[in-house]
Amino acid sequence: MIELPLLDETRCRRCADCIAVCPTKCLSMRSDGPFLIRPTDCVSCGLCVLVCPSAALSLAAI
Ligand code: SF4
Ligand code: SF4
Repeated sequence: MIELPLLDETRCRRCADCIAVCPTKCLSMRSDGPFLIRPTDCVSCGLCVLVCPSAALSLAAI
């Protein structure tokens, strides 16, 4: 099982804190919020979830 960040677009403020904290730089911003540009580089660390000020991210099993 792999866990990847899942975005709730309605909560996202587009602050980009999640992108800044990601240790593998696998997130990028688009109009509706952050998205995984390289899903295979995500190490499921959860840092993006922890730093999000509006609880817009969660780790979800895929
Ligand atoms: S879980 Fe970790 S590696 Fe994956 S996108 Fe978030 S900060 Fe980056
Ligand atoms: S940290 Fe949260 S509010 Fe900020 S861009 Fe990422 S998902 Fe959106």
